[in-house]
This record gives sequence, C-alpha cells and structure tokens, in this order.
Amino acid sequence: MLKLASTLPLPSFLRHKIATPADHSQLLSLHKSLVEIPSITGSEYAVGEWLAQYLVSQNFTVETQLVHGLEDGEEVEGVTKKQENIFAYLGQTRETRTLLTSHIDVVPPYIPYRETASAVYGRGSCDAKASVAAQITAALELIAEGKIKEGDISLLYVVGEETTGDGMKAANTLTPSGWESVIFGEPTELKLAVGHKGIAEFTINSEGKAAHSGYPWLGVNANSNLVKVLYELDRLDLPASSLLGNSTINVGQISGGVAPNVVPAKANAVVSVRVAEDLDETVRRINEVITSVPGVSVDWFETPHYGPVELDWDVEGFETTVCSYGTDVMYLKGDHKKYLYGPGSILVAHGDGEFVLKSDLFEAVRGYKKLVVESLYPTRRVPAVVRVEEVKSEEKLVVQEPEVVSKSATVVGAEKETGTGEKQEANEEL
Ligand SMILES: [Zn+2]
Repeated sequence: MLKLASTLPLPSFLRHKIATPADHSQLLSLHKSLVEIPSITGSEYAVGEWLAQYLVSQNFTVETQLVHGLEDGEEVEGVTKKQENIFAYLGQTRETRTLLTSHIDVVPPYIPYRETASAVYGRGSCDAKASVAAQITAALELIAEGKIKEGDISLLYVVGEETTGDGMKAANTLTPSGWESVIFGEPTELKLAVGHKGIAEFTINSEGKAAHSGYPWLGVNANSNLVKVLYELDRLDLPASSLLGNSTINVGQISGGVAPNVVPAKANAVVSVRVAEDLDETVRRINEVITSVPGVSVDWFETPHYGPVELDWDVEGFETTVCSYGTDVMYLKGDHKKYLYGPGSILVAHGDGEFVLKSDLFEAVRGYKKLVVESLYPTRRVPAVVRVEEVKSEEKLVVQEPEVVSKSATVVGAEKETGTGEKQEANEEL
C-alpha cells in the first residue's frame, strides 16, 4: 500500500483517507525531521546542518554557503544564529541541466510537529518543508530507478526566503547558472503556476504641525492628511492583468500622534502592493495620489520591489494556477525555464493551523518526478507563452503547431543521449 501510494495517482475518494505513519515512510520521516527542527528566518542553521548530513547519507555531494552570521556561529538562547544555504549534486558535477530548489526558513512562531492519520501539522509542514521533502524524495526515486544520473540535477535549499530573499540572492555566487530548467517548490496545491504577482512596499510619511487640540487651526493635523491619502489609495485604480487579476493594496501598519488633546505633528503608514501588471505605472499612480496632499511624502522600500513574474507551465498533465504571493523566483539569475509547483495550500501556510495532507506529499513526489523527467527529456509541450484568453480555455493548452512548441521540446543533447524510445518509456512509467 505504501509503495502504491507513492507511485500511483490516488483516486479522489482516497485522498484525505490514507493513513501512513511517518515512521514507515522515508518521505514522511524526512518531512517529520525537517518540520521538527525549528528554523524561523535567522535561525536556519540547525535544520540546514541536519539536511546537509541527510543528503550526504544519500550519496549527494553537499556544499554549504554562509549567507549571514559568523563562521563559527553565535548562540542566542541556545540557538545558533547563522544562515547557510545548502547546495547538493551527484558526484563531481556541480553544473546540471535541472535544479530543484526551495527554502528551509519558516515564519514565526514555531509550531511543533503533529501527525494525524491523513495530515501533518506544524510550522513549515506546508511552507515549504513539504516541497523540500517531496523534491528530495523525487530525486532519490529517480536515481534509484536509473532515470537520472550525475549532471542531470542539483538541489538548492536556501535561507531567508520569508523576509528579504537574501539566501537566494547569495546563491547566485555559489551555484553555476547554466540550468535549462529550475523547479521552485512552494505550496501551489499541486498545480503548475502560470505566474505570480510582483510586490512593492512603501512608507507614507505625513508631516504636520503640533498644536493644542482646542485650537486645531493653529496646527496641521498629520493624521487627517494621512487618512485622506489612505482613502484615495483604497479607491485607486491600478494596472490589472487578465492573467494575474487585479493589483491589490494592503495598508499593513498605521501610527500617528501622541495624545488625544494634541494635534498630531507626525503620522505614517506602511503599505504593501501586490503588483499584477506594470510596476512603473503602478508606482507612478501611487506617487501621484500621495504627493497630491501637502506635507505627505512616500519612501519606497528597495526590497522587495519587483513586477509580475511569468512562469513556465509547458508540461502536460498539470492543472494550472495563479499565485498572489512572492517567491524567490525573481532572485535567481540565469536564462532558465522557471517552474513553480508544490504540495499544500498557501492559504494555510502562515497560519496557526498550518498543515499538509499526506496524500499531497506523495502526489507531489510524482509531480516533481514528472517535472524533472520532462525538463530533461521533453515530450509533448504546451506553449511556454500564451495569451491570457487562452489560459482559461483548457483545450487550447495543447497546441500541435511545431513553431509554437517551446524551445526545450527539441533539446538535441537529450535526444542523443537517450533516444526517443527510452524517453517516452520513462514518461509512461511515471
Ligand atoms: Zn514559502
């Protein structure tokens, strides 16, 4: 039954019902170990060390990269404050055709591992240790089945994704960058993401003049001016995309004033925009609203600050989705195909009840195996870039015209090495 669950698609009536104790499955016990080790951003060292040892025990060559902290680590309340990326590959070949990657940091607070018959709860159980465990298991199974070899894949597990993306930014100096495909692991409910929104954040500063609240005309009320701007921002029409939907604005923090009987001299708000289309135009429209009120100015954060991200989804057999959250995809340099896929839902990812279904974990192993094999030995592909209208219509996802089939559908090296017959067989077995 265990073997069946990890190699065949589960019928829908069986999902939620599969009972597989973590102790009896390599996938679930790997996932358990990862979730049990706390790794809130800034404290990833312990989980990284464990993961490095695990990958070495599975015959990977492992390199670590210090991203932040002291070389020998600094302990704060028993936790080593040191952030290290983990890069692994087979044998001596660092440069590979496909990269599997995700992040090992999680958001606070730590929530302990808890297992039920059908699900695993705990911080990081979904975002993104489910992806990490499923990717590694997929790689191990492909190696055991003889479908991949040295030079085909490497693994990269980064720190700092939940805050600044510093881990992935630093990884650019660690890893080679000539991949044909990079498969990013984040919770996408087992769907292949067609794109995700960008993100831009800023502080609104409102400068007024303090006065006695009985004589408000002698001062300038910074709070009132801030409220005027926030009201206009709420109604602001931002560039929208028919692929990614509307851009959205979240006023996340507000502060202002010192006492009820003092006209406030200072107020500010911190705002996040999920950018669905045209970052420059979005910034222009927001600046226009903010600077229209005297005494109010805007400070854009340097990071995060990027526009919508287009992803590749030219592999058959996956449902597609659009993501509203940010990822590390933008920070990894190189001219590679970008796939975003993983088990679990982003909707539970940062919440108190974070969980992942065990059946999703097993399904994700199948999904990653398929993506890896397709990235190395492509069979039939849907176009990498489609017009928005076409995304909504399922039958248009399969396009027969050779000129619109994506570039990697005709990878010459792959043909030479394996031949078409073996290629097809590899895919059928999955
Ligand atoms: Zn994540």
